[in-house]
Amino acid sequence: MTIPSIATTQDHKKSCHSREGGNPFSPDTGLANSRMDPRLRGDDKEGERIPSIFPWQVEQWNIATGMVERNRLPHALLLTGMSGLGKQQFSKAFSAFVLCQSKEMKKACGHCRSCVWLKAGFHPDEITISPLPESSIKIDSIRALVDTLHETSMQGGWRVIIIESAHALNLNAANALLKTLEEAPARTLFMLVTNQLQRLPATVRSRCQTVLFHKPKRSDALAWLSDHAASHDIELLLDLSDGAPLGALHLKENDLALRKKVYDGWLALRTSRGNPSTLAAEWQSQNVTDILNYFLVGLRDLLRLCVTAVTVEIVNKDYHADFLKTAKTLSKKDALHFLDAITDAHRALLIAPGLNKQLLLEDLLIRWGGYIHVSR
Ligand SMILES: [Zn+2]
Repeated sequence: MTIPSIATTQDHKKSCHSREGGNPFSPDTGLANSRMDPRLRGDDKEGERIPSIFPWQVEQWNIATGMVERNRLPHALLLTGMSGLGKQQFSKAFSAFVLCQSKEMKKACGHCRSCVWLKAGFHPDEITISPLPESSIKIDSIRALVDTLHETSMQGGWRVIIIESAHALNLNAANALLKTLEEAPARTLFMLVTNQLQRLPATVRSRCQTVLFHKPKRSDALAWLSDHAASHDIELLLDLSDGAPLGALHLKENDLALRKKVYDGWLALRTSRGNPSTLAAEWQSQNVTDILNYFLVGLRDLLRLCVTAVTVEIVNKDYHADFLKTAKTLSKKDALHFLDAITDAHRALLIAPGLNKQLLLEDLLIRWGGYIHVSR
């Protein structure tokens, strides 16, 4: 199937164009990392096993499979929680369970026709919709989906529709989806996956049963990372990803280099050493969403330093001294204004991915410089 933004399992695996793929803070979809245990990847090659869940998803798995066992599966599930917890892989694993024709104790059998299809990388009754990078899901994708729902399922059983980054549905698409959810055909399961629940219209949310994902205990996350991450400082990686194990796993050396570049430039705006226009010109070719996320994490640290004791724990421990200096010149009010500005910039990128990134960054950096600059 070649309809933009909608794909059967096979098409999806050929062209998995997740908007979150390159984002170190949103790696739900970044499951193809070469360092990752192949059994945990969402991009299993032909002949490999079907997706499985992560150790910290057992509670959610029991809830979801329990619904199937009690014949209480709703039309729509909303998988939500912070990024980096593997919600997307969970959706694939649960889809395999729902589609399996010979379920075993809380897992897909791995041998039936459906499981064999999934292991081969194709299942005609599993449809995935995901936005193009830094783009929204448009009504055409939902219309194309509705057309396929008029056809009967290939197996005569369930059909599963996974909507990745569901918060990227634009208004028209969300309204069309709402109508579809209200009139969903029997034995059709929608799974909406999002780490930005508040951006999904309340009307759509109310049509779904929510499954909430939590980050694991720090000790459990570190234990898992020590088995799966390469030889980086896993404590720092976990801090930078706010405790999300997959976020930490997918931070790569390039990401850390970009982080250093961003914070060094960002902090230099305290004094006349930094120039917003020069920085914006340098950074516009990078992943701007990642840069905005570094701003967010840094700003959160600065807010902690603004309002609490000097000894407060921050994520960017290696920048503690510099952040502390900056916090002394930054008012809480300005920090909150900047938080709004970052949120607006995120939204602008999503609505208009083609917008001028250099101007967007320059505007933010000029504003930021105004908040923290100290005249000499
Ligand atoms: Zn099976």
